[in-house]
Amino acid sequence: MSTSKKIRITYRRVGISLYTKRSSNGILIKNKLVQINVKRVFLASLILSMMLLLSLIVSIYAPYEGAGESLYYGLVIGYGIINISFVLFLVQRLSTSNYYFSSYIIHGYWVLFLCFSLGISILNINNYKSIVSFCIMLLTLSMVPLFANAEAMVYFVIQIVSIYVVKMTTWIEIRQVLSLFLFACILFGYSRYMFGQFVLMERMKGKMQSIKKSAEEDPLTRLLNRRGFEKKLELILPNCIQNRSRISLLIIDIDNFKKYNDAYGHPAGDRCIHWVANMIRKTAKRQNDIAARFGGEEFVVFRYGTKEIDVLSLADKIRNNIEELQIKNISTGSCVTVSVGVASLIPRDLNCINDLYSEADKSLYQAKKRGRNLVVYGEKVFGKRAMKAE
Ligand code: GH3
Ligand code: MG
Ligand code: MG
Repeated sequence: MSTSKKIRITYRRVGISLYTKRSSNGILIKNKLVQINVKRVFLASLILSMMLLLSLIVSIYAPYEGAGESLYYGLVIGYGIINISFVLFLVQRLSTSNYYFSSYIIHGYWVLFLCFSLGISILNINNYKSIVSFCIMLLTLSMVPLFANAEAMVYFVIQIVSIYVVKMTTWIEIRQVLSLFLFACILFGYSRYMFGQFVLMERMKGKMQSIKKSAEEDPLTRLLNRRGFEKKLELILPNCIQNRSRISLLIIDIDNFKKYNDAYGHPAGDRCIHWVANMIRKTAKRQNDIAARFGGEEFVVFRYGTKEIDVLSLADKIRNNIEELQIKNISTGSCVTVSVGVASLIPRDLNCINDLYSEADKSLYQAKKRGRNLVVYGEKVFGKRAMKAE
């Protein structure tokens, strides 16, 4: 089974439809929620294990008094063992970051916790150690998993039904029923509150990210803008310097674009920029290619970690593919073409990027000077027209 399929199934098991309806990054949010819940369950079972051990130690000095003594110790020891196993199991899962069965773990833990809390409350409520059991519950309660509406409601209903069944079949008093009911309400309310906070925070983060993204993206072509390009470079360059991997830059400029605009109008000019941008994106599609629109009818492509020959081949492919788009330009009597200036070097420090820009710019200037629709790299000239001239 593919990983993405596995992940999708896991999310479905979490049982939250809220995000898929409202948010495009729903899967990511669900993944985060599962991870948070696994960690909360881990902490809760850790706290509970320690508290149960502590309560057993306390009971050596102050033994359980009243009915159900063996049941009480059985419950505490049994649940203690289950909890410690849970902790060990979760340590292993958290270390592998494999959350495939996580929703089962979360729900399984929670069902066990509810059973335990119900049992211990009934047994312990009249005993002076009820304070101990309430302390245990309050501590673990702070780690209640974040459940969505439907899930939280299901657990709440289960708790109410269980309390009712217990009331009908045992001797517990009305004040005990009330305290169990209060406990169920607190669990429900707290889980809902934490879930709401989580959703709010994630939406805010999502919005912040999309604002940040739109500030770094060119709205016409959806390529990175200059700011986005420079930000990406800031991340990549230190690695290139450290590994001494070659960096290359292409500056691509549409030829005679002013004439195109004059002949067809600005909106048509925009469409042309859009087509050219799409072709650049399609051609410079490797993972180590970063394409951007620098403004006007000028684009750049940055490529790292490849040989000069690869970069020159990319530059000529871009030039050729754009020519083959056959966008008519009546003002020049031919179709839309681009000139490409190329520079390439092994970076020594961050200042190298300035040399790269100015070299590529000089090459572009040469491409324009030599008649356009050309790729220039230092002294070398490429393109159909260059070959004809030779
Ligand atoms: P060259 O071959 O030397 O590059 O000539 P050119 O006409 O392409 O260059 P020039 O710099 O003289 O003109 C660029 C034109 O691009 C001028 C401007 O009207 C046009 N332009 C710049 N940005 C946009 C834009 O976003 N949309 C449109 N439609 N036109 C733009
Ligand atoms: Mg131009
Ligand atoms: Mg220009």
